[in-house]
Amino acid sequence: MSKIVLENVTKRFGDNAAVDNLSLEIPDGAFFSLLGPSGCGKTTTMRLIAGLETPDDGRIWIGDKLVFDGRTNTVVPPSQRGLGMVFQNYALWPHMTVKDNVLFGLQVRRVPRKEREERFLKVQEQLQIQALENRYPNELSGGQQQRIALARELITSSKVLLMDEPLSNLDAKLRIDMRVELKQLHEATGGTIIYVTHDQIEALTLSTTMAVMKDGVLQQMDTPNRVFVQPANFFVASFMGSAPLNTFELTIEDGRLVNGAMQLPLPDGYASSEHNGRAVTLAARPEEINLLPSTDQWSVPGRIESILPMGYTALVRVVLEGGSELTVEHDTRELEISSGEQLFVRFDPKTVHLFDTDTMERIARV
Ligand code: ATP
Repeated sequence: MSKIVLENVTKRFGDNAAVDNLSLEIPDGAFFSLLGPSGCGKTTTMRLIAGLETPDDGRIWIGDKLVFDGRTNTVVPPSQRGLGMVFQNYALWPHMTVKDNVLFGLQVRRVPRKEREERFLKVQEQLQIQALENRYPNELSGGQQQRIALARELITSSKVLLMDEPLSNLDAKLRIDMRVELKQLHEATGGTIIYVTHDQIEALTLSTTMAVMKDGVLQQMDTPNRVFVQPANFFVASFMGSAPLNTFELTIEDGRLVNGAMQLPLPDGYASSEHNGRAVTLAARPEEINLLPSTDQWSVPGRIESILPMGYTALVRVVLEGGSELTVEHDTRELEISSGEQLFVRFDPKTVHLFDTDTMERIARV
């Protein structure tokens, strides 16, 4: 059992709460990502789990073992927490071959030679590094070095692997290849991976569960799909897209979303009577909106102001009747468009997000 639980964990640096009353339950075998902008407390959270920082308050369990308890001053040192760690700066020993680097941890632990060799063969195969065993780190590419750093942790058979932005030093193509490898590795080993990243695509593609943080505070912990499709609040919605969110301030009036020229029906799942008069912020990602030649009740007329082609799609800036602007990711194979053209912008009632304008929390559908 390597479930990890954080209960009301707080870590302050001076007056700044880097992690603020954080509770998490990381399931056994999860690929769990901590996601958020720079400074939101991801690395600190991971370091608290590893035992490299000591919380001011709260409790942390790794499996059945209570490794930190602020009430009893229990602090289990990092070496006794049974965790493997791979960081951004993976620091291989430059004077040792790949094999010696990978085996170093087992030698320190005095694991017998026969077992060391067996384990080495296994990770070599898992990570496809057979051809590299006699090379030195300066003879390896960035991706190969990263693989060796991973091998060095995997070979210790830790049930939990902590990774802090392990791919951020790699170029874009290699990062995508390594993502695939990490995912396969996770599936093959069945261990728990805790993964720090500020890259939402990385978190979406790799995780089984993810936690989005802001200013040390947990915003949402959920499957990647739910974090994307049902963001808990406006911050999560705006963090989880590649292009900026389109937003509109509206009021719910008699079953409609209204603001001057813009009038849309209230989507299914929102009871009109309950929300009447409520100020809401409608948010839609560029890829959640369509440009169409004809109108329906979910469409608003608009004029195309600019087109940024991106291959099969284009980012299109549209000025709506009434003056507000928005960006649409338009599939140019479906409909050819040109600047200055009058078309209809159609919102998708199934995917639009509604937030309470006062709290910016999601208004749940029933
Ligand atoms: P990044 O993506 O930039 O690494 P992060 O989300 O991992 O950011 P943390 O490194 O956990 O964020 O930092 C959270 C907050 O705590 C930040 O405001 C940071 O400046 C502060 N902080 C982190 N470590 C220390 C420290 N050792 N001393 C003082 N402040 C710290």
